[in-house]
Amino acid sequence: MGKHYDLIAIGGGSGGLSAAERAALYGKKTAVVEQARLGGTCVNVGCVPKKVMWFGAGIAHALHDAKDYGFDVDVKGFDWGELVKKREGYIGGINDWFHTYLKDSNIDEIVGTASFVDAHTLEVGGEQYTADHIVIAPGGTPVVPDIPGAEHGIDSNGFFELTEQPKRAVIVGAGYIAVELAGLLNGLGTEVSLLLRRDHFLSSFDCMLRETLMEDMVNSGVNIMSQTQIERIEKQDDGKLHIHCQSGVELTGVDSLIWAIGREPLSGPLNLDAAGVEHNEQSYIPTDEFQNTNVENVYAVGDVTGRAQLTPVAIAAARRLSDRLFNNQPERKLDYENIATVVFSHPPIGTVGLSETQAQEEHGTAAVKCYQTRFTPMSHAFTEHKVSTAMKLVCVGAQEKVVGVHIIGPGADEMLQGFAVAVKMGATKEDFDNTVAIHPTSSEELVTLR
Ligand code: FAD
Ligand code: NDP
Repeated sequence: MGKHYDLIAIGGGSGGLSAAERAALYGKKTAVVEQARLGGTCVNVGCVPKKVMWFGAGIAHALHDAKDYGFDVDVKGFDWGELVKKREGYIGGINDWFHTYLKDSNIDEIVGTASFVDAHTLEVGGEQYTADHIVIAPGGTPVVPDIPGAEHGIDSNGFFELTEQPKRAVIVGAGYIAVELAGLLNGLGTEVSLLLRRDHFLSSFDCMLRETLMEDMVNSGVNIMSQTQIERIEKQDDGKLHIHCQSGVELTGVDSLIWAIGREPLSGPLNLDAAGVEHNEQSYIPTDEFQNTNVENVYAVGDVTGRAQLTPVAIAAARRLSDRLFNNQPERKLDYENIATVVFSHPPIGTVGLSETQAQEEHGTAAVKCYQTRFTPMSHAFTEHKVSTAMKLVCVGAQEKVVGVHIIGPGADEMLQGFAVAVKMGATKEDFDNTVAIHPTSSEELVTLR
């Protein structure tokens, strides 16, 4: 029989680590079960390696623009393998840091796959561990479609395993991952086709954002094929892929086909029935606003709950849960409204709150007033390759409360956080206008919109 704990977290990713860390801070006896690498999706196959590649693509764009700033730059090439080696070295350092951190924080690391025996007992590698509180945080995994030859493609995990740069890549999907991978691969010099089954990508985002991004991606050389679905894929003798689309279009000589059509929760191996924990048809685990599942003492945080699948959300929900359980803060919980998010596209998108359409649906068309602008940022005023910036404030009611801030353009990723504070505090258009601009910046436009 293994040990007994105050709290065990299933999953050593953003959510599980944060729940355990906060519980340990309050002196609780805590363990984390992890079947793969500490840090989870974000650190190993998500935010971190993606952002490194995004920075790489940004440098490629800057090198291209350099001549317009008077630099005589001779770029001899780009070594994908070298960047991947450096990136993985950096991630290895983060993994090591987590091992040390857990040890120093008196958090036990249990290696293996956890499954429930009952609501207080987990089995990992034939050993049983009990806990007063169990936090489920196993995250998710990419979905691959059920079509002939789908196995010849890779998913986002496979993308991060590529040690050679694909010359020609086809990406299927319309969410964050599809547009991010399309943008960074294009920036680094891969010939990219992005296949959308509808007309647009990022369907839940404000239309200004997705339309501007689509124009900029096309101008940057991404081949966006809307209303296109794959029928079957063949692998040829030379290893290249031959893709047959339902429309009759064929894509040949493809080095990498990347599925980016969504993710599903990793709740299957948990044997939830043994603990009586309910899941929905898509295998997500529903919780109430306090992260409680239907079973007392069992909680769920992060991607497995199906809500706002972002690292800071998993972290914030998990920390607040441990605050509630162990620090006498019975009302502590995460407010899921107005969560800011960035798409690391080229250029990036920063968005918080309601889109124009969502605001009209929620408050009625007459109550909604939008202020918007579009311009070429000064950084690209005289460069050959143009990048757009577009901004929109969505305001509601006579007070013009700002219920949505939407930005696309260079710097949008870093610009948004402060504006998200303003939205969270209930700022009005007048509050924005009363804030003196910082000049010369792009963000000053947001406090001078007419
Ligand atoms: P994870 O981080 O997935 O952690 C779950 C852990 O549990 C994993 O390590 C897994 O191995 C382990 N596990 C699963 N089942 C078991 C089991 N039965 N026993 C033991 N261990 C188990 N979010 C952002 O905010 N910004 C970004 O820029 C961003 N970029 C992303 C890019 C990509 C390509 C992807 C795929 C995701 C990205 N995300 C981003 C989303 C973010 O990574 C997730 O929202 C976040 O990691 C969720 O945290 P989690 O704790 O729920 O799950
Ligand atoms: P998403 O759920 O964001 O998007 C997937 C999209 O692909 C769907 O919305 C759908 O769009 C389209 N799609 C679904 N099935 C098919 C199909 N069979 N063929 C073609 N297209 C299809 O998933 P992602 O995998 O991109 O990302 C998962 C989550 O990870 C994100 O929602 C986000 O929460 C998180 N993430 C966050 C990032 C960040 O913060 N920067 C970066 C990466 C991921 P449609 O219906 O319009 O066709």
